[in-house]
Amino acid sequence: MSDVPCAGCTACCKHDDVFLRPDENPRDYRVERAFDSMRGEMGWRLQHKPPREGGGCTYLGDGGCTIHDRAPAVCKQFDCRFVFAMLEELPRPMRRRLTHLYGSKSIYGHEVRAAAKARMDGFDFEAASAQMAEEIGAVDLDSPLSHFVRSNIL
Ligand code: SF4
Ligand code: SF4
Repeated sequence: MSDVPCAGCTACCKHDDVFLRPDENPRDYRVERAFDSMRGEMGWRLQHKPPREGGGCTYLGDGGCTIHDRAPAVCKQFDCRFVFAMLEELPRPMRRRLTHLYGSKSIYGHEVRAAAKARMDGFDFEAASAQMAEEIGAVDLDSPLSHFVRSNIL
């Protein structure tokens, strides 16, 4: 479980696409079929609210996540500080490219990065990296996104 001190921020719930993992049951959530670029295949994505309702995740309420106890694993493990720290290591053209690829309204966009930047005090990048390394087993290393990361970033 991520320990980000979100303190009322909901930026990533507004701007991220949340895909279920293979061991999560789509019947347990309001989902739609969509291409999961992390896995390089079709998957189940949490629905978004229409723009007239403010957009963002279908489960995002005025007080934050309305399914906090059973939110998908991606939500529980996401740490915007890790993304921010990783992006800061990249050359500026590469940061631009990621933002361009995924759009400014994504976890690579300004709002999520600003939230992360405000919460960097005491963040342990080494520990977060170790946790990510455990998680990486769940990612398809042959997916188009993985190829992109390997050939352009790593
Ligand atoms: S962007 Fe960061 S601080 Fe804001 S809700 Fe997401 S994890 Fe929490
Ligand atoms: S399920 Fe909850 S934590 Fe996950 S994106 Fe939706 S509102 Fe945010």
